[in-house]
Amino acid sequence: MMTGKDRVPDVPPGGRPFVTRFAPSPSGYLHLGHAYAARFAWEAAHRSGGRFLLRIEDIDASRARPEFEQGICNDMVWLGLTWDGPLRRQSERLEAYAAALDYLDGQGVLYPCFCTRRQIRQEVAGAGQAPHGLDGEMVYPGICRHLSADERQHRIARGEAYAIRLDVEAALGRTGPLYWHDLKRGRTKAEPHLLGDVVLARKDTPTSYHLACTVDDAAMGVTLVTRGEDLFHSSHIHRLLQALLGLPVPLYYHHNLVADSRGQRMAKRNRAVSLKYLRDSRHTPDEIWRLLGLSEAGAATAICA
Ligand code: GLU
Repeated sequence: MMTGKDRVPDVPPGGRPFVTRFAPSPSGYLHLGHAYAARFAWEAAHRSGGRFLLRIEDIDASRARPEFEQGICNDMVWLGLTWDGPLRRQSERLEAYAAALDYLDGQGVLYPCFCTRRQIRQEVAGAGQAPHGLDGEMVYPGICRHLSADERQHRIARGEAYAIRLDVEAALGRTGPLYWHDLKRGRTKAEPHLLGDVVLARKDTPTSYHLACTVDDAAMGVTLVTRGEDLFHSSHIHRLLQALLGLPVPLYYHHNLVADSRGQRMAKRNRAVSLKYLRDSRHTPDEIWRLLGLSEAGAATAICA
């Protein structure tokens, strides 16, 4: 099991205790990688005298299941990583996301996109670009960015399916260059064009990970966003959304990912590393921490020391 050394200072820059959060999606049981992420956020908050919050990211109704949400709570309590205040669910916050989307629309930085994935793939391949950009997602080549207002209205009125995309160039034109402070990497320039004109909502899903996460981190008063390196590039878009929506900018820390003994990342489909399976097969929380190379929760020499 490999984690590596991640550290957050005990005393936050500026002296205010950290408010952190763990934000899993209830689309499967938590695994050892989640235990590391949750423990990291919990410990950063606790060591600074701050608060640790739990948010269930359940906007994808086709994948979220109540038994997985229950599983998350069971695992967290079993590990001793209890959260402060009520548990929040994104499915209960759709109005807040709709209001943020309206606000962005008013700034002229959104456009409807009628492309299918296949069309996008063909366009990207035709232009000789790599089929996949960062995070394995295709960078949208901007096909629908310049449709006329009439054509947009006509196609929406005809009932065509569409996604709402963020016009990154127009947005950056409004905000100018942006930066965030990453406790691991230092001052970091936001480069949202690396992800391109991301989808912020769809006709039948009124929000997206990027929009909901940014709105909620601000609404919950999160001052330090901790998450895995695999989500590092999302922060480019989140920083841009914060600037457009006038939201405070938290600190960030993108921690190492837990790999198994073959160096592979943990996956929800791998039952053997699920916390439920480990608990059912009589492992103790201390064994989980030892597997992750950490001392028991609450001890002074843990990951954030
Ligand atoms: N819901 C995301 C996940 O489970 C994490 C989001 C975040 O920490 O920003 O991967």
